[in-house]
Amino acid sequence: MVSIMDVKARFEEFLKSNYYNDLLQLCKEGKTSLVIDFSLLDRFDPMVADQLLEEPEKTLGEFQDAINNIDLPEYAEITVRVRNLPERRNIRIRNLRAKHLDKFFCIDGIVKSASEVKPQVYLAVYKCPDCGSLIEVEQTGKIMRAPNFCECGRRSGFQLVEKKMVDVRWLRVNEPFEITTGERPGEIAVFLKGDLTTPEIQRKTDPGNRIKIIGIAKELPIRISGRESTKRDIYINTNYVEPSDIEYEELEITEEDEKKIKELAEDPKIFEKLSSSIAPTIYGFEEIKEAIVMQMFGGVPHKMPDGTRVRGNIHILITGDPGTGKSQILKLVSDVIPRGKYVSGKGVTGAGLTASVRKEEELSGGP
Ligand SMILES: [Zn+2]
Repeated sequence: MVSIMDVKARFEEFLKSNYYNDLLQLCKEGKTSLVIDFSLLDRFDPMVADQLLEEPEKTLGEFQDAINNIDLPEYAEITVRVRNLPERRNIRIRNLRAKHLDKFFCIDGIVKSASEVKPQVYLAVYKCPDCGSLIEVEQTGKIMRAPNFCECGRRSGFQLVEKKMVDVRWLRVNEPFEITTGERPGEIAVFLKGDLTTPEIQRKTDPGNRIKIIGIAKELPIRISGRESTKRDIYINTNYVEPSDIEYEELEITEEDEKKIKELAEDPKIFEKLSSSIAPTIYGFEEIKEAIVMQMFGGVPHKMPDGTRVRGNIHILITGDPGTGKSQILKLVSDVIPRGKYVSGKGVTGAGLTASVRKEEELSGGP
């Protein structure tokens, strides 16, 4: 294992040779996160990269010191975030165990529910009424903690004089369906703070979204009627989060694509062409395929004279004998469209559907 001094110096070197311009850009734009690619770090110094995986809290702290050491045109508090962990660090939620605690992992899941973004005190400063000294207390629990004692001997009655706040948000994340084979999907709590709660990231981590979370597996004390149990839950203290879905607006359409799309739109046979291109190896089902094409493009929302809205989304119910290709067609379709999800049988009562239903309820004020 490399020594503490080495990690800091090595990381500073790494930043200067790979991310110096990004750092300058961040300062200019007033941003607070630097996202680094793990594979670059691994190539630069495998020992430092390994230490990051095994002792992320300590190592990220050293990274922080390294950033603070670099001369930047303006003072900025920048957090180091890491993306692209090696494959072996992708772990299923239901496989997280005690041995994984305090290590760095990547999990993939669907947001089932999310709290509002709320400010939380993470550091409180207390004043001793006897000697006047100031005592900083880190706040890690749900309840504000005052100092246990002062150096002068006083043990209680400290005054809260200052507190530092950070925005936080909790998510509950489920395993995606395609990796669960009928069993109940694993679920885990995920903690986001600071600039991981910006409106943009908030939108991407709202219920129903599929996300990749990189973070540290931490223990969460379980309380039984107000007292701490010996049992522990695991949660992920997030370092970096990114959407696994490609959203419509993020699809890149080149000029050439646009030209082709416009050409196709002029084609009087476009509807037949599209519907016959759905699962061409499955014979028949013309009406079903046509219906699916219409669903993929969606309808137009209507506003009634009295102000009520009829949404443009189309739902389809396909019934038929087993083994006639219904699922086959739908699986193919879910691969074609962004944010398409194929949900089947036992999984249907799981996260994704309830998540999207809840979201709808929130938006429309309930059924
Ligand atoms: Zn005192």
